[in-house]
Amino acid sequence: MNPGLLVVISGPAGVGKGTIVRKMLEKDPRFVLSVSATSRSPRPNESEGKSYYYKTREQFEEMIKNNELIEWVEYCGNYYGTPRDFVCDEIKKGNVVILEIEVDGALNVKRLFPDCVLCFVIPPDFEELEKRLRGRGTDTEEAITRRLARAKEEFKYLEEYDYLILNDCIDNATERFFSIIQAEQMRTKRNQSLINRFKNI
Ligand code: 5GP
Repeated sequence: MNPGLLVVISGPAGVGKGTIVRKMLEKDPRFVLSVSATSRSPRPNESEGKSYYYKTREQFEEMIKNNELIEWVEYCGNYYGTPRDFVCDEIKKGNVVILEIEVDGALNVKRLFPDCVLCFVIPPDFEELEKRLRGRGTDTEEAITRRLARAKEEFKYLEEYDYLILNDCIDNATERFFSIIQAEQMRTKRNQSLINRFKNI
């Protein structure tokens, strides 16, 4: 029986964390993604309950007041937060809960759940990140400049993370993420029932 695990994955826009997470979810039904609440409007390719739970600012503030979120931030003028019940229920079931969130939220989660695992996806170098962002063709020049500046800010927090996942190629990066989770699940501190089984024979 694997112990439940809370895993955070962060990284700058364009680094490929969304794709890595998608591939991870295909590997094992016990890997589940936490869907965040947000006050930003849906993008054309997004849907309620799959990409986010879309809330008005008032509804989001009500969620904060009712302690329904384990963490929340205001980012680029919008609220984003992680619903508490899903995370706690899935960990109890022994599942691996993945949170795809930015740096401030990640550090708050670590404070609240010191046992969680913080992973940060890095590109091979900054120029490559810029190339990938431009290659997506989805952002204006202004948005690209803003996202690159934000990436520089986020890189200042790399040492707060437990693992860095180099994304030189999506399949390698996914394998690295998978290996981290497997190793974390085998840590002695997460397997007290196995220890008990063998300790007193
Ligand atoms: P976007 O608007 O592009 O979907 O997300 C903007 C940023 O917010 C991304 O870095 C994303 O990972 C982060 N984010 C999404 N959901 C949450 C959340 O629940 N909490 C925090 N702290 N960040 C989030």
